[in-house]
Amino acid sequence: MTRDQIILGLQRDYALRREENHRLFEQRCADACSQCPGLSDLLSARKEALMAGIRHGITAIHKNPQINATLSQTMALYNEKIAACLSSGGLSPLALQPEYTCSLCRDEGYIYEPTRHMCACFETELNRRMLDALGLTGPRSQTFEAFDEKLFSQEPVAPHGVSQRQMMLLNRNIALEYADTFPNTPIRDLLLIGQSGLGKTYLLHSIAHRLVKRGFLPLYLSAYRLFEIARKSYIDNDPEQMADIMDAPVLLLDDLGTEPLMNNITVTQLFALLNERQMAGLHTVISTNLTLTALKDRYTERVTSRLLDSRDCKQLNFMGEDIRKSLGKVGGRP
Ligand SMILES: [Zn+2]
Repeated sequence: MTRDQIILGLQRDYALRREENHRLFEQRCADACSQCPGLSDLLSARKEALMAGIRHGITAIHKNPQINATLSQTMALYNEKIAACLSSGGLSPLALQPEYTCSLCRDEGYIYEPTRHMCACFETELNRRMLDALGLTGPRSQTFEAFDEKLFSQEPVAPHGVSQRQMMLLNRNIALEYADTFPNTPIRDLLLIGQSGLGKTYLLHSIAHRLVKRGFLPLYLSAYRLFEIARKSYIDNDPEQMADIMDAPVLLLDDLGTEPLMNNITVTQLFALLNERQMAGLHTVISTNLTLTALKDRYTERVTSRLLDSRDCKQLNFMGEDIRKSLGKVGGRP
């Protein structure tokens, strides 16, 4: 699903929301009319006066500033009478104010001043749906904003003497810059490499969240899922099933190396994927628990040379202690 398709779906839902709120408003009007004698006539008269005023206003011969002033005076007068009528019937004078889920955009999803732009309500829901489409919504969102470096040890790690915290901050900054500058990133691809529990998936999710916030829809996939799709595409002899993965402007591939190895199929398909994406200049971010040697052993030199070409791919190394060990003490992911 593309971002545009998600926006279309959201616009349809906003139209339904407007209809539903209008239906509730009409219902409130009907209830109020049965409770307040004379209200129905007042509402009809106000509606009539409004329509007549608009008709006058758009007829060229009547075009003068006085008409608008007269119309708003007439409306104010009717509003006063209606409020008084509601009060005499025991209702709040504001009982017939139109109600909107979002009063800023009146449930249109867009604000038109000073120029047309998405309302915050629409944008928030759009982001949520995009993250949902990526399978990244959850009670504990893994974002740059929630990143807590204090979860990482300051003890120097051999052989470089750099602490896990320093390394993680460096990796966080590179990932953040990547997400903030896409599609004009300093380097096209990232490879996050290190044992499990060191924060690779966290940074991958953070990149996805930030890209979505900036209006891009990345494709996030576990390697397991990728090769499931690839295998099916191979068995069905239907390359079209891989099209979304081949063509995604940015692919975030998590946990490379955890998928079952299917003879030559996995290696061949990974090579085809990387090769095609690189030829098209598309961005790819991969995380793996495998060491460089293990990557070469598993996927051959041919594939790993694609992954490790420093002109196109920046390697982020993750070392130190499994962060999940400290979760019990601190109570949250990094
Ligand atoms: Zn709004």
